[in-house]
Amino acid sequence: MAVFDYHGLLAHVSHSFECIVYGDNQNVALACNDCHEVIIDFDRPDFDNASSIEEIAKSLTENEKAILRGSRDNEFANAVEDFSFPWVFAVVEASGLSPQVGRGTISSLVQKGIVAISDYEAKGKAEDMIFALTELGKAVYSIVFLR
Ligand SMILES: [Zn+2]
Repeated sequence: MAVFDYHGLLAHVSHSFECIVYGDNQNVALACNDCHEVIIDFDRPDFDNASSIEEIAKSLTENEKAILRGSRDNEFANAVEDFSFPWVFAVVEASGLSPQVGRGTISSLVQKGIVAISDYEAKGKAEDMIFALTELGKAVYSIVFLR
């Protein structure tokens, strides 16, 4: 949960909000569309291994953080923005990781539901695929980097 008090909520006055379900219906959150910040969220009570967005953010490895950083700070596109999708190779290059480590790290982020990769013109090479952050990914990004 990102907002705890008067000043935390005051920062979102006049912003627009959306209520979003994350993961396999395991978490529901009210998120600010303007700041991509989670205002309040709850785990499904019967979901034993539920991890909140906060927990997912805390569990990121340094390599995973490097990839997320690279998805925004590369020369082509900014994955944090809507409808802006960098190439995988650009994200890996900007992350500073080797291509092999970068690809492995990206697949771990895909498994966590943070990143979605889509084929670009069916070229079949991982480097030519398109990198996108899921809604969960954007929420996690804002917790890790924008606070
Ligand atoms: Zn806001």
